[in-house]
Amino acid sequence: VPAVRDRLRIAIQKSGRLGEPARALLASCGLAWRESRDRLFCYGETLPIDLLLVRDDDIPGLIADGTCDLGIVGRNVLLEQAGERARTGAAATYREWRALGFGGCRLAIAVPDEWRWDAAGDLAGKRIATSYPALLSQWLAAQGIDAEVVTLSGSVEIAPRLGKADAICDLVSSGATLAANHLKATETLLQSEAVLAGPIAPFGDVRAELAALLLRRLDAVLGLKD
Ligand code: ATP
Ligand code: ZN
Repeated sequence: VPAVRDRLRIAIQKSGRLGEPARALLASCGLAWRESRDRLFCYGETLPIDLLLVRDDDIPGLIADGTCDLGIVGRNVLLEQAGERARTGAAATYREWRALGFGGCRLAIAVPDEWRWDAAGDLAGKRIATSYPALLSQWLAAQGIDAEVVTLSGSVEIAPRLGKADAICDLVSSGATLAANHLKATETLLQSEAVLAGPIAPFGDVRAELAALLLRRLDAVLGLKD
């Protein structure tokens, strides 16, 4: 039985690309906080809505295990972890509630500059390095391509030069990192941006009203942006 709580807790990235814009967006919804000494927790002063500052990769799990109620995270991270959970037979517990309009990037296949690229089928039999094995495996299966997925936690873009892979599947925004590594983007697997993630099941206590209030303010703010 989930514990009854009277405050809403939102996980956001502590630093990195999404931390500051996430806080700014929530502040524009009228939230303000008092920070804890260790800067990991921010206590909501205008509304009973608190922040937990964490690594982005931890956010889906914190929602899944109920430590946090909502989170702001890249769609890429949310879908990768959802895909991994599905693969292991775990039930889906969270989903995207809103797209937030910042942190835009795409998950793409990139190959060495000198490759003559015709079609996705060119990847058959190749080794593809990625930090997104679930999303890449799903995409390869959907395309009917048999390729080897090489899972790396970082520095994916140097894997071809190190001889660890033939191609990569990584996040791209400007393409400058790819160009610096003599790679070119080909197929796009996913268009990503920061999203508000929340549980699939409704809250059974006052958090339902707090979440509804936050969504109303968020929609008003997001509506003003475009
Ligand atoms: P953490 O220390 O929290 O684990 P990180 O290094 O994994 O941080 P960041 O590099 O801050 O993560 O990226 C966070 C998110 O920003 C990505 O998951 C993605 O959704 C988004 N993003 C936007 N543009 C890019 C890009 N060019 N490269 C990587 N991520 C990007
Ligand atoms: Zn991370």
